[in-house]
Amino acid sequence: RRRRPGGPSAATVIGLLVCVVCFSAAFFLWKAALFGSGRNESGEEPFRPVVGDPPYRVCIDAGHGGSDPGARGVIEEKEMTAQTAEALLALLEADPNYIPLRSRESYDATAKPSERAEAINAQSPQLLLSIHGNSAPEGSAAAGFECYPSVPGRTWHQESYYFAQQLAQGMQAAGAKLRGHGGIRYIYYQGEVKQLVEST
Ligand SMILES: [Zn+2]
Repeated sequence: RRRRPGGPSAATVIGLLVCVVCFSAAFFLWKAALFGSGRNESGEEPFRPVVGDPPYRVCIDAGHGGSDPGARGVIEEKEMTAQTAEALLALLEADPNYIPLRSRESYDATAKPSERAEAINAQSPQLLLSIHGNSAPEGSAAAGFECYPSVPGRTWHQESYYFAQQLAQGMQAAGAKLRGHGGIRYIYYQGEVKQLVEST
């Protein structure tokens, strides 16, 4: 229904790790991310991903499940992420502009990230959202929404970063507090060591 003329149809796989505090606003964010426009403060045309025409193939991953509970606090991360993933899928299902895809049949199944990646790539999604909910030690003031787009130097980094920005801004507009610099951070591994970097 919504057409964006001119752009070549490119399958764009955007890896994006999303920590969700409040997800009900996510629906309109797809539109904002895919069709938003405008100039940045310096007046340059900002980067815009080429997404082609709908329907868009969007894969939803729950970050944990099965024997991997994820973070444990007042709730278990695997439960929260499974419910969030199912709710997102239902929203996408109701809109003919999207083809919702799953990283696995049951979100309460144990699946290694490499296994999930294989199943996800086999479905050729244009966007991947992996949902997480982090924990912090007792007494910590940590709170808020944050996105972990594909890191610089990786394929689709620009597209992933663009979508993360749209997502964080939309969540903020919906009342969520953002963590870090505008709600965007990077995680990558150097050998076995996990690195966490604030975006600039
Ligand atoms: Zn997690």
